[in-house]
Amino acid sequence: MTEYADLLIIGAGPAGMAAALAAAPSGARIVLLDDNPLPGGQIWRDGPQANLPNPARQMRERLEACSNICRHSGTRVIACAGPKQLLVENPDHGWLISYDKLILCTGARELLLPFPGWTLPGVTGVGGLQALIKGGLPVQDERVVIAGSGPLLLASAATAKHNGAQVLRIAEQASTVAVARFAARLPLWPNKLMQSVTLFDHHYRTGTHVLAALGNGRLEGVRLQQQGKIVELECDRLACGFGLIPNTQLGQALGCDLDGQALAVDTWQTSSRADHFAAGECTGFGGSELALVEGSIAGHAAVGDVDSARALWPRRTRWQGFANALSKAFTLDPQLKSLAQPDTLVCRCEDVPYGLLAGHVDWRGAKLASRCGMGACQGRVCGGALQHLFGWQPSAPRPPFSPARIETLLCLDDTPPA
Ligand SMILES: Cc1cc2nc3c(=O)[nH]c(=O)nc-3n(C[C@H](O)[C@H](O)[C@H](O)COP(=O)(O)OP(=O)(O)OC[C@H]3O[C@@H](n4cnc5c(N)ncnc54)[C@H](O)[C@@H]3O)c2cc1C
Repeated sequence: MTEYADLLIIGAGPAGMAAALAAAPSGARIVLLDDNPLPGGQIWRDGPQANLPNPARQMRERLEACSNICRHSGTRVIACAGPKQLLVENPDHGWLISYDKLILCTGARELLLPFPGWTLPGVTGVGGLQALIKGGLPVQDERVVIAGSGPLLLASAATAKHNGAQVLRIAEQASTVAVARFAARLPLWPNKLMQSVTLFDHHYRTGTHVLAALGNGRLEGVRLQQQGKIVELECDRLACGFGLIPNTQLGQALGCDLDGQALAVDTWQTSSRADHFAAGECTGFGGSELALVEGSIAGHAAVGDVDSARALWPRRTRWQGFANALSKAFTLDPQLKSLAQPDTLVCRCEDVPYGLLAGHVDWRGAKLASRCGMGACQGRVCGGALQHLFGWQPSAPRPPFSPARIETLLCLDDTPPA
């Protein structure tokens, strides 16, 4: 079976939802596809312990009210099947989608850097812990340490506290001066100032980073370097994440160029490939407000409504300013590159330690020699870490992009020969 979309949008986070709603009045047949069960992306992830804000609910209702938007949830992209055709799969079946225009809104994921003990049960990413809690993980009375960098530390701590956890420390690696300068600029974005006041927690420490997760078979404590001193805390959970990296893999597989670590786009959110747009955090980290406005611009531009797209440029410039201030304030300290020891696992799918990787010249060489990045996550975790540690650019993924059923792969037989 082949489905047809005038406009196919991959990712139903803030950017993808905004893109679909902006394009809908054109009457185009829009397909919005996401691998999560419900729209909302990372920030508006739903679940039994999630607290969905009103704007998210309203956007969902508006999407449902548009008869020309078809939503495919729990659906993943498996392969590129032709010049403008993708092979996709949901829990029931696989099929092909042909499209005229495509918008990539694939978001970002956490940068997880290896350190001794980071594979112990009880250690997760910062957004990872938040997602687990929203999904129903009980944390009542658990002692939690949150470490790494960026505003996500405070958001995750708030979710943990709201669900009964005791947050012992929020360890931000950025210096006091950098964070204070950032805070001084927040009045330029009053809702962000309000958010930071609401989320602030007196356990927050700047100039502090994790050295090791401690425990025998399970996490029992954490060793931190806190403003020059070594501190050890007993805890039940450690959440550690060092900011976000854009999900560019699908864009790369489609032949879209990168700008640094993100998908390159022009003022219309068009990628280097004609008829292929990108918006939100796959084009660089900036928060949900920037993702929303970029999504709207891409949606309008994809259906040819250039005036509506252009009218949103000033709002995008304003939120790009916030994104720039964020990335300057939370630049990672080079010291974090020396946390991993020779026996610290870097690729946790294939059990490849740091010592086996140092000395290679690039990602491909390391992968061929060690199987690094060849496991279940296909380098989504270690690829980002190695890019940060050694500057190796992971290559574009090859299909299948995620494990797929044989029947799904057989759909490729329906594609005409090249
Ligand atoms: C784990 C995590 C938690 C976060 N929590 C917060 C928070 O609490 N507060 C906050 O202000 N910011 C948070 N952020 C930052 C947040 O990502 C953004 O501000 C905002 O959600 C970005 O919107 P987006 O639409 O660009 O991407 P996202 O919200 O990331 O949405 C992208 C969507 O695309 C889907 N997707 C990606 N690739 C594919 C594919 N190949 N096939 C199908 N679907 C695909 C993803 O599952 C996701 O649903 C978090 C980020 C992460 C990584």
